[in-house]
Amino acid sequence: MQQFQKSIYDLIVETSTNLPGDVRRAVQAAQELEDKGTRSALSLSTIANNIHMAECNVSPICQDTGMPTFIIHCPVGANQIVMKKQILEAVAQATKDSKLRPNSVDSLTGANSGDNLGAGTPVIHFEQWENDEIEVKLILKGGGCENKNIQYSLPAELEGIGKAGRDLDGIRKCIMHAVYQAQGQGCSAGFIGVGIGGDRTSGYELAKHQLFRRVDDVNPNEELRKLEEYVLENANKLGIGTMGFGGQVTLLGCKVGVANRLPASFFVSVAYNCWAFRRQGVLIDAATGQIKEWVYPTGQDVPMEQQTAEPAAAEQERKEIVLTTPISEEQIRQLKVGDVVVINGMMHTGRDALHKYLMDHDSPVDLNGAALYHCGPVMSKDANGEWHVRAAGPTTSIREEPYQGDIIKKFGIRAVIGKGGMGPKTLAALKEHGGVYLNAIGGAAQYYAECFKKVEGVDFMEFGIPEAMWHLQTEGFAAIVTMDSHGNSLHAEVEKNSLEKLATFKEPVFK
Ligand code: SF4
Repeated sequence: MQQFQKSIYDLIVETSTNLPGDVRRAVQAAQELEDKGTRSALSLSTIANNIHMAECNVSPICQDTGMPTFIIHCPVGANQIVMKKQILEAVAQATKDSKLRPNSVDSLTGANSGDNLGAGTPVIHFEQWENDEIEVKLILKGGGCENKNIQYSLPAELEGIGKAGRDLDGIRKCIMHAVYQAQGQGCSAGFIGVGIGGDRTSGYELAKHQLFRRVDDVNPNEELRKLEEYVLENANKLGIGTMGFGGQVTLLGCKVGVANRLPASFFVSVAYNCWAFRRQGVLIDAATGQIKEWVYPTGQDVPMEQQTAEPAAAEQERKEIVLTTPISEEQIRQLKVGDVVVINGMMHTGRDALHKYLMDHDSPVDLNGAALYHCGPVMSKDANGEWHVRAAGPTTSIREEPYQGDIIKKFGIRAVIGKGGMGPKTLAALKEHGGVYLNAIGGAAQYYAECFKKVEGVDFMEFGIPEAMWHLQTEGFAAIVTMDSHGNSLHAEVEKNSLEKLATFKEPVFK
């Protein structure tokens, strides 16, 4: 078993940096389906490019490398204590090597352990089986999509789609609603795992386990097969699209599992996974610890090529505007929802800890006319002590909704960049002060990392690397205006339209 730790390390690196072949095929199918030249098609093209870059750079596909969750099947007699120790060491090493972002945070103090180890992290489940090999499966599911998981207790009255009873049709309604409520915040187009039954805990576990199924497998339960196909086909009719920009493709996969339940309970649990669906597995020789084979098709089998499409007529008028920070109010007032903005100059990162801090304190740097990026990057320090950006896609912005409007006005920020959009309070502040919200492509961490040419400095390292305020010299950072200074929000519009479409699925389908 000398090689076990190295095999786990290799599994972590592969999972974080190289999207599996079955997931890549689903992204390619989405590219085929999407209307050419639209915002969603361009986003899919960036996503495809990012997948390729992550593989070439052996760097994280998305900066949020999630909660590492290991599912292990081992033969009788395999030493689980030794395996667990080696898994922890491999996780710490992968974090040190910037293959995983330090993501383990003390829930009470907010302190980051720095190595992804801590109470409850990583998650490791052992189970015995009758085979001779050890099977280790790993999923890296980020916080943005984890926050869009949802659990229903039937019967229920669901927004838009009405009454959901304790039957297959009620389950169908829950799943359709789950896709609707995620909007683009979980970095759609996504994959969902559904657990029917169990209790509150085991239901969610069952849902997450569905994400370990191959994208192209077929459910052996005929009723569930039909349900999966129905959801996959009809969820796309909600029109949420890639990143919630609207479009033809909202869902890339749907897998449903069932377990027994208590007579009094009927839970439908949904685990939502973003397009950056990072899960891989290995079969390991129990005597040597060496990898014998990979469980899922590897990324190398399905090369990703950047799509170059002619813009559709409706999109040809979309403007591309280059802005250099500090940005003036006049420049901002000229921007409209749908414009593509390219930002040059200094950009500052800020997430939850910084927003909370800035409410009651001064900023360490002048933010007048600034671009504030909701991002928790993966960083590394070279031998000369210089920092480098290794992965830097946007994080989910809605978490900052309670603070954002006040901070924009207090410090004179002109552009807030993130993903998934923000709410009415921020929209009002953008209108009053003269600001825009720019939606970057969630998960495109390699693509955006290349835009950061130099790390000029960092404040609040005590918040941990993801939460620190990084000051980054930026060149060619492209994002789409989805909330402007005239009171328009693409997110509000897509949500309203998709709610209307959800209502068209009220009638029973499965008797
Ligand atoms: S792609 Fe989006 S939801 Fe997925 S881990 Fe990255 S930021 Fe989070």
